Amino acid sequence: MIQQERLVQTVLDLVQLDSESKQERAVADYVTARLTALGYTVREDNAGESFGGNAGNVIAYKAGTGAGKCLLFCAHMDTVKPGNGVKPIVEQGIIRSDGTTILGGDDKAGIAAILEAAAAMEESGLQHGPVQIIFTVAEEIGLLGAKYLDSEQLPAIDAAYFFDSDGMPSEICVASPYHIDLTVTFRGRAAHAGVAPEKGISAIQMAAKAIAAMRLGRLDEESTANIGIIQGGRATNIVTDETVIYGEARSLNKSKVDSQIAHMIQCCREAAEQLGGQAEVKVEECYAAIDLSPDSTTVQLACAALRKLGMEPQLVKSGGGSDANVFCGKGIPAANVGVGMTKVHSTEEYLNIAEMEAAARFIVAVMEEAMV
Ligand SMILES: [Zn+2]
Repeated sequence: MIQQERLVQTVLDLVQLDSESKQERAVADYVTARLTALGYTVREDNAGESFGGNAGNVIAYKAGTGAGKCLLFCAHMDTVKPGNGVKPIVEQGIIRSDGTTILGGDDKAGIAAILEAAAAMEESGLQHGPVQIIFTVAEEIGLLGAKYLDSEQLPAIDAAYFFDSDGMPSEICVASPYHIDLTVTFRGRAAHAGVAPEKGISAIQMAAKAIAAMRLGRLDEESTANIGIIQGGRATNIVTDETVIYGEARSLNKSKVDSQIAHMIQCCREAAEQLGGQAEVKVEECYAAIDLSPDSTTVQLACAALRKLGMEPQLVKSGGGSDANVFCGKGIPAANVGVGMTKVHSTEEYLNIAEMEAAARFIVAVMEEAMV
């Protein structure tokens, strides 16, 4: 059913199409042609127009040939840099680049596995329920395609799977935290540090005082916080009038992440007030949590499909975020599934062909399990 040779050829085709974030046109055209040939109704939304990309999310649908749950399979079309001019090399069960670029198996392995499963399903004549496929743009630069996805016309999705993770499909990420970014600009007053320091108000000191008062690092089992960047100052002889700090908080629990951000803001305001300056605060909700219960249709179908394939499901948590988080925030129950990528975002990136093939088999098995 699944044809390894064709799967490998698809991924080789895909990685040779340049698609650094916002430049996904060639990949969008390729997948549109492939899905159309398989009988899918394919449209592209205008997500790219919102952030200067040359393509939108590719959204494909095929009605069920029988009665079954409605499934969604997803991957992203963009890659990180340096991702242009990839020259893939296949050897000993892996696919890698020539070392001058990334491979772009993140996430073209996901696209290839989905296309292979769709083709295999079509050829097999097996009955399936309604299938929705979405290939997003601009995942790597802030999950932008998913955030701007035109989801209005989507049918009700019973279970959704993103193929954007390393390892075997038996590794299923069912929990990943809410994530909020915090930017605080401290404003003080500049003065000569040697001649008249008492006329100055140090924004660096405000930032230091604020950060020293914050609870940071691992806060509890499901929550973390960090200040990652401090910017400010021009010379040692100037009392600094502006300092900006960039931080974040994450938690599986929405109220915990909200209260951590409130705590960080309070530390900033208090420090600014004590030193006679100001703190300007900007809060950005990056994405929602993935928090799928073991009883959810997404997890149940995945576990049944894996067992049928002779694999033991491993339900894992991740501290990172992906398109699946954004989809969960839109009410689509999405898990992130392994598709054989390794050392992603580096020129040593490679793909394990057997793991990618297992992901394609998993997709077919989930479709079979979804029949009612
Ligand atoms: Zn990815």
